[in-house]
Amino acid sequence: MRNYKVPTLTIAGSDSSGGAGIQADLKTFSAIGTYGMSVITAITAQNTQGVLDVEDLSGKIIRKQIEAVFNDIYPKALKIGMVSNPEIILEIVSTLKKYNPKFIVLDPVMISKSGYCLLKKEAKDSLIKHLIPIAYVVTPNIPEAEEISGQKINNLEDMKNVGEKILNLGPKYVLMKGGHLEGDAIDVLIGKDTFEIYKENRFNRKNTHGTGCTLSSAITSHLALGYDIFESVKLSKKYITEAITHSFDIGKGVGPVNHFYEFED
Ligand code: PLP
Repeated sequence: MRNYKVPTLTIAGSDSSGGAGIQADLKTFSAIGTYGMSVITAITAQNTQGVLDVEDLSGKIIRKQIEAVFNDIYPKALKIGMVSNPEIILEIVSTLKKYNPKFIVLDPVMISKSGYCLLKKEAKDSLIKHLIPIAYVVTPNIPEAEEISGQKINNLEDMKNVGEKILNLGPKYVLMKGGHLEGDAIDVLIGKDTFEIYKENRFNRKNTHGTGCTLSSAITSHLALGYDIFESVKLSKKYITEAITHSFDIGKGVGPVNHFYEFED
């Protein structure tokens, strides 16, 4: 149910080509039907062919953006995406702790599809120690889950074990996206008394820029609209599947998913 008065927030990096990052998040919030707000952590010079350069914003302006938003329009749910360095992570965590938001969806962005490192090496420990523990749900893909846990993942059993390891860091849920494994695309939602498997036939599409950003923003929107975590994940997976199915060629490289296919003639 759309409700454009329900505030949602993304704390993430800007993608100048509009396919991933803040731009994908705001499109997702709008398409699902919430009021989207943004705190920008970094600016990427990027297009469908790759990331050309990145400039991080200062911890101070990131903190001020968060305070400006929370002191005026308290978001019902928020997501955190690209947070490249430890200073940014610590500033976000200490500022959010003042406001104690219930629903933090953390997409632990590390490397772009084009291979650019979006999380500096020295930031990984801060992410694990400070950011993951305050999340309601963390949404790693397989390479990210391996980086976080230091463990290789080859099958569903490994996904379960590593998911439990990440759960022990403090979030309420871990949604591990299994798309990088062979065979059917299997995602798992792991919580204290939860182990849900979401299985889908694999379908390959060329244009998948921004899929991770889009899924985590979709979950954020659904949580803000009042759905529980199970419904939120189910509806968000449906959303991303449709958005990938209707993805399109634009630019010379990997095009974006389509947020507005419903409005096409
Ligand atoms: N650029 C920015 C600013 C992002 O936040 C992300 C998020 O994951 C990406 C690029 C990566 O997108 P993709 O993995 O689809 O290339």
